[in-house]
Amino acid sequence: MKPGNKRQTRRNSHFTPFVPALLSGTTGIRAAREMKEYSALKVLTNTLTGNRGWKPAWRKAEPKPSYDVIIIGGGGHGLATAYYLAANHGITNVAVLEKGYLGSGNIGRNTTIVRSNYLLPQNIRFYEYSMKLWESLSHELNYNVMFSQRGILNLAHSPAQLDDYIRRGNAMRLSGADGKVLYPDEIARFVPGLDLGGSQRFPVVGGLLQPRAGTARHDAVAWGYARGADRHGVDIIENCEVTGFLRDGGRVTGVQTSRGEIRAAKTAVAVAGSTSRVLKLAGIDRLPIESHVLQAFVSESIKPFVDTVVTFGGGHLYMSQSDKGGLVFGSDLDGYNSYAQRGNLPVIHDLMSELLALFPGLDRIRLLRSWGGVMDMSMDGSPIITIGPLDGMYLNCGWCYGGFKATPASGWCFAWTIAKDEPHAINAPFGLDRFYRGMLIDEKGQGPTPRLH
Ligand SMILES: Cc1cc2nc3c(=O)[nH]c(=O)nc-3n(C[C@H](O)[C@H](O)[C@H](O)COP(=O)(O)OP(=O)(O)OC[C@H]3O[C@@H](n4cnc5c(N)ncnc54)[C@H](O)[C@@H]3O)c2cc1C
Repeated sequence: MKPGNKRQTRRNSHFTPFVPALLSGTTGIRAAREMKEYSALKVLTNTLTGNRGWKPAWRKAEPKPSYDVIIIGGGGHGLATAYYLAANHGITNVAVLEKGYLGSGNIGRNTTIVRSNYLLPQNIRFYEYSMKLWESLSHELNYNVMFSQRGILNLAHSPAQLDDYIRRGNAMRLSGADGKVLYPDEIARFVPGLDLGGSQRFPVVGGLLQPRAGTARHDAVAWGYARGADRHGVDIIENCEVTGFLRDGGRVTGVQTSRGEIRAAKTAVAVAGSTSRVLKLAGIDRLPIESHVLQAFVSESIKPFVDTVVTFGGGHLYMSQSDKGGLVFGSDLDGYNSYAQRGNLPVIHDLMSELLALFPGLDRIRLLRSWGGVMDMSMDGSPIITIGPLDGMYLNCGWCYGGFKATPASGWCFAWTIAKDEPHAINAPFGLDRFYRGMLIDEKGQGPTPRLH
């Protein structure tokens, strides 16, 4: 299926509810069954009976001796890949192997920002395609991923920075994405809690708004893809750690796991922050990836305060408000290599000073929770979705801070690459060989400096 074809365009319209589906054969029967599964009556009965009537959304599958495709990593990208392999390519003899529980990695730890406000054509094409998939994802999965297109506003604090944003906005519009420059009076109306005052160190001189950007419920994305893949017969196997690779000569023929050996014609790796560790098991110890900690924070719940995503251009801060009322925010990497899913205090200190520079009115709000995730930082800040690096192996990694928004397109493109043994035009630029050939996709022009990407 090509992006933007008839089926896709129809799904992108927001009018694909159950009625047409009910009229169309097997899809209709499935939609009707799933409707019944989450009907208003069911919600009501379960509310009155202690929520004991729900069935698990996916089976607890036991590993079989062999599969057509094994996907290592039950994060967003692994699950989306499994779903699109089955849904788009009819490949259903697939296992997703997850070492912990589903959603224990970055898919359940991110700040949920979805956007396609990139400058370089390769990135903008990929992330804009992802945005289009987001726009119909709840319908596609028949599962509410709570995608909320509340916009993202990148604040500029100097005329030079605003020029840079205007250039980016123009590039976005030329590539079919949406972008709009806002000036201080419009920003004051759009984000009333923001202090635009020139007395600050970082006066706001304007900003780039992408109205179609927004947020989604991260766990629901994992659960929705898992449920969708399971419905197609994919085995999702939790608590199954890959501990080694089976090889026949140079070719990868499966994996050793904490639950025994599993063979496969094709083995795909989608383990994000654990990429270097897992590929080391296959004897590959040089990759253009570094693992770093990134932290996220949630405040206590407050009344509706900000209904868009705001980013600070004088440093690194991104903030939105969750549907429960908590402010969700994040900042820079911790700045040292680590596989620990927790960070340190200096980042919290920087982040809070940035937050208060923008929103001094939040000075007495209390922080409720914080956590960390392990980021697979690539050396040019762009992802890798490719065949190889060994025969029989496929690799998906290098997501840096931005892999949540990429989840649908990443799964879609990776599934295509695995099924057809060639990349789709959208992910063709994201091969591993670009690092040998010097064809880097360096969005920010920062070179191999993870903390700046
Ligand atoms: C704090 C934070 C904030 C972020 N904010 C955003 C944001 O706002 N927007 C955005 O677009 N992106 C954001 N990201 C990035 C995004 O979350 C990730 O890039 C993306 O989720 C990575 O892909 P994934 O979901 O497949 O990874 P994961 O969920 O990490 O999946 C990888 C899985 O592989 C499993 N695994 C590892 N080793 C093995 C093994 N040996 N055997 C079996 N399984 C294994 C892990 O347990 C894990 O579940 C953020 C990340 C963090 C940590």
